Amino acid sequence: MNIYSLPSKISVLLFDMDGTLYTNPFYAQLQIDLAIKRLAHVRGISLEEMRGEIADYRRRWADAHNGRKTSLGNVFLAFGISIEESVRWREELYMPSAYLSPDPALRETLERLKTSGLKHALVTNNPVSIAHKTLAALDVEGMFDVCVGLDTCYASKPNESPFRKAAELSGAQCAECISIGDRFDVDIDVPLKLGMGGVLVDGVEDVYGIAGFLTGSQ
Ligand SMILES: [Mg+2]
Repeated sequence: MNIYSLPSKISVLLFDMDGTLYTNPFYAQLQIDLAIKRLAHVRGISLEEMRGEIADYRRRWADAHNGRKTSLGNVFLAFGISIEESVRWREELYMPSAYLSPDPALRETLERLKTSGLKHALVTNNPVSIAHKTLAALDVEGMFDVCVGLDTCYASKPNESPFRKAAELSGAQCAECISIGDRFDVDIDVPLKLGMGGVLVDGVEDVYGIAGFLTGSQ
């Protein structure tokens, strides 16, 4: 875990979903693979050719952006796949309940944070419907006050719109929010520039530890 910044007044925690609320490298990679397989099919090339083109694009993008990384949704945009199409593909391809199970420790953590007066917002590059299925599979669906998905702003993190929208729907200023996620370039960098706090986690195990230092600081 890496704590980049904590606001003096904290009202809302913005949680990334995949790789943050659960740790499951197989399922995380499967989501990427299924989407790339669909893109390869649409473009009439092999999966390996598509992987190679995406890797080349990511290298060029990083070279032009000081080594930073962007999301798969934004990479797909560059290959002519609209965010609306990405939403449809993900809704068709992803089945969270087949790979995830209830997480009592996560639920306890979120309950403890809520009891201390914090609101929870989910900010994910998956569609809202997939977010709800994921939260249900983890048995934490009722823990979130706000859910911002790929089809809320039709913009993919690290675009700033989803972060701003989550703060707005939570009734908070950016300066009262903390973004918590597993990818610095996607989940933390932009929120810090918006004046939010930022906590980079290695997975849900780090999220379990957040209640300790946040409720202690309330
Ligand atoms: Mg993530």
